[in-house]
Amino acid sequence: ALELKEVTKKYKKTNVISKMDLQIKNGEFLVLLGPSGCGKSTTLRMIAGLEKPSSGQILIDGQDAEKISSMERNLAMVFQDYALYPNMTVYQNLEYALKVHKVKKEERQQRLAKILETLNLTEYQDRLPGELSGGQKQRVALGRGMAKQSKIFLLDEPLSNIDVQLREKARDEIQTLHEENQQTIVYVTHDQLEAMALGDRIAIINDGKIQMIDTPDNIYNHPANLFVAQFVGTPQ
Ligand code: ATP
Ligand code: MG
Repeated sequence: ALELKEVTKKYKKTNVISKMDLQIKNGEFLVLLGPSGCGKSTTLRMIAGLEKPSSGQILIDGQDAEKISSMERNLAMVFQDYALYPNMTVYQNLEYALKVHKVKKEERQQRLAKILETLNLTEYQDRLPGELSGGQKQRVALGRGMAKQSKIFLLDEPLSNIDVQLREKARDEIQTLHEENQQTIVYVTHDQLEAMALGDRIAIINDGKIQMIDTPDNIYNHPANLFVAQFVGTPQ
């Protein structure tokens, strides 16, 4: 399981995450849903170990996340701003983590061919990120995360710049990988419908605090407060 225990994050003196408690079961698909600036990306970055909580603790399978090396953490993240390696081609961007984790060449080629195909990137595989459109870069970022088939998969608005037809295909592929590899997924979006469609549970966040965490059905039909009701569009 992935656990946050009273996690607080401050920048300067301002709390952007306040005493957040969260338990995510292995193999669960959890969606973080909330307005811009509520702390979704900050939460993911802390889970990924890219930032430290100001106080509180993050546990991965009962172990303090800070004591687990990035190799052992077995985690992939799709960044909101893509964070591609600028000097590597699309193919090399996708392949890099697999090489680091010593995945055999044949297996790498197989996985990557399928992902490139699914995300309509095959014809761009030899380009550098600087030679791609925003939507194409986002697909590379998503593909790079998918390729790793890690135990924990963190996605930060991975479909925000992808057009509708491909978005559904990409969404299905995320679901399929989640099921095939029993991945624990934390998926950030501010799109209510996407959250409802994907999440086993949804955590509604506002102002650095979880307002409600429950199944899509309960969130929609039994919102815990006015903020939740308005945010998910429950008829009043
Ligand atoms: P969005 O939906 O717009 O991506 P978000 O929910 O991902 O928003 P975060 O990026 O987690 O929001 O930011 C939460 C708050 O923390 C914001 O008010 C932001 O301005 C602030 N913040 C984020 N990173 C820093 C930083 N490095 N220094 C200071 N403040 C920061
Ligand atoms: Mg964000």
